[in-house]
Amino acid sequence: MTLSLTVWDVQHGSASHIRTPNGRDVVIDLGTGRANGYGREFSPLRHLRANYGVSYIDKLIITHPHRDHLDDIGQFDAMSPRVLERPTHLTAVDIRGGNRAIDTSIINQYLEINARYTAPLSPGQDPAIPENNGGAQIVTFHPTQCARDNLNNHSIVTFVEYANSTILVPGDNEAASWRELLQDPVFRMWLKKVDILVAPHHGREAGYCPDLFGLCSPYLVIVSDGPETDTNAADRYHRHAKGGGFPRARSTRRRNAGCSPPGATGLFTSNCPGVVRRR
Ligand SMILES: [Zn+2]
Repeated sequence: MTLSLTVWDVQHGSASHIRTPNGRDVVIDLGTGRANGYGREFSPLRHLRANYGVSYIDKLIITHPHRDHLDDIGQFDAMSPRVLERPTHLTAVDIRGGNRAIDTSIINQYLEINARYTAPLSPGQDPAIPENNGGAQIVTFHPTQCARDNLNNHSIVTFVEYANSTILVPGDNEAASWRELLQDPVFRMWLKKVDILVAPHHGREAGYCPDLFGLCSPYLVIVSDGPETDTNAADRYHRHAKGGGFPRARSTRRRNAGCSPPGATGLFTSNCPGVVRRR
């Protein structure tokens, strides 16, 4: 009985897949990428269907409606998510106002889906109930109080816990939403447990919040972004990693990356041998 986490290399984007111990498939965000930075677009959802035998998604979390978290939305209906979690407090006006005109088509698709998913969950579907996930706990926090001109601060933050290991997958949260969440004692309790942190906002400076690290001390921090020079908070995370550091994978030629359980401190693997650079 294992839980697996795959953080796809979608360069500057966000896309993760969790398979729970009872075989349920949870997807967080719909980023896409390009191998080598060019060529055919890499769709994590198509890849899951073709190579992981996933015919539908049990739960999809869209952390926030920005294009780099939505590019794979064209595959949404083919994967017919049973449950969709997204920041429902945002209005269509907020969402359109927080995106560029050039992204209108993708945002329209998101809003159409958003309007469709309104039925209440049945108890057997509810991913918040650990028994539905083979004992894994999937807990989300929704910051809602920050200014709505920056949708990053409305990103859902997800904790996944199984077998005494905890993974934290945020969206593009910046300091303001981290500080909002830090007011909540339950959130602080979860933060103390974190073993693996997927860096917020692709590891960029804007997502780095030093206040987190008074409570959070991960073994491993995963950074995925575009050109490495852009992930300019990576060295700060390096200093906080409990295992003495974390390896960074190059942003090119890496199709996807999985991470080890925290017992194997600092181990970071790629499906493309030879393209992981260790610090
Ligand atoms: Zn983003």
